[in-house]
Amino acid sequence: MANLLWLQGGACSGNTMSFLNAEEPSACDLVTDFGINILWHPSLGLELGDNVKAILEKCISGEIPLDIFVFEGTVINAPNGTGEWNRFCGRPMKDWVKDLSAASQFVVAIGDCATYGGIPAMAPNPSESQGLQFLKRAKGGSLGAGFKAKSGLPVINIPGCPAHPDWVTQIVVAVATGRAGDLTLDEFHRPKTFFSSFTQTGCTRNMHFAYKVSTTAFGQRKGCLFYDLGCRGPMTHSPCNRILWNRHSSKTRAGMPCLGCTEPEFPFFDLNPGTVFKTQTVMGVPKDMPTGVDKVGYIKLTAAAKGMAPAWAEEDIFVV
Ligand code: SF4
Ligand code: SF4
Repeated sequence: MANLLWLQGGACSGNTMSFLNAEEPSACDLVTDFGINILWHPSLGLELGDNVKAILEKCISGEIPLDIFVFEGTVINAPNGTGEWNRFCGRPMKDWVKDLSAASQFVVAIGDCATYGGIPAMAPNPSESQGLQFLKRAKGGSLGAGFKAKSGLPVINIPGCPAHPDWVTQIVVAVATGRAGDLTLDEFHRPKTFFSSFTQTGCTRNMHFAYKVSTTAFGQRKGCLFYDLGCRGPMTHSPCNRILWNRHSSKTRAGMPCLGCTEPEFPFFDLNPGTVFKTQTVMGVPKDMPTGVDKVGYIKLTAAAKGMAPAWAEEDIFVV
């Protein structure tokens, strides 16, 4: 039996919605098959008011052993570092987060807001939002760079906007069943099992990427979304084309560019008009290169690829 507590800060509840759609395993499987006891969750908990507060206090005192503390949303510090904009059970949420994190065996941040700050932490960041252990790329965040949960692991980050439900439940199961030792985290504390490959890995448009054939409109079934529509699949670490969404598809398969939501900088370009869904270029060359490709190499490669593209590359050949 592993006790799990889930709280929300500056959040839209998108990660909860995603979590409730998990399939392998499902949220119900966590309880019935993997012995996870959900102490409280904002959408699932039965307790209200003082009864919730009592659970939190017992977790902090150790009366209830807290195995997994899950946090969704940013840690809000406004105004002026007080956290008063986000009070919960009689005190700033940021104070609960600090105390519960210190009392827990494992701390898991779900979604881009809890991991790196996400959209709420964009400049000018009026809510003074932070992720649990990062603010964008900078390590530190609300809990500080040196934070480690009782297990000795730092915050386990499962980014995404939202995170794929199975990334969440599979990591929770690994931790709850004593297999946390199998987890290796990358420099941004993401489990490598999910975040070593790219969104592009497994994308059905890879042949079009290789021949520099462009998708020019959303939902178009031919072409690659990198050249015109700003797809960040070649530089975003995610398994979105390996672990499909709803077991069926992905953004890029459906003709929608990857926005890079699993990377600390998300959202990119400050969302200025004309910067999203559009490839930013200088003299016709994308500003952001596929990871590991330099600009000179890119120009040579794409010139050759374009010149050699077979006729079928311009056809609609998708069966998704
Ligand atoms: S659509 Fe995006 S992920 Fe797919 S091949 Fe093109 S750039 Fe890569
Ligand atoms: S395809 Fe890209 S933007 Fe969409 S969920 Fe995956 S990583 Fe995030």
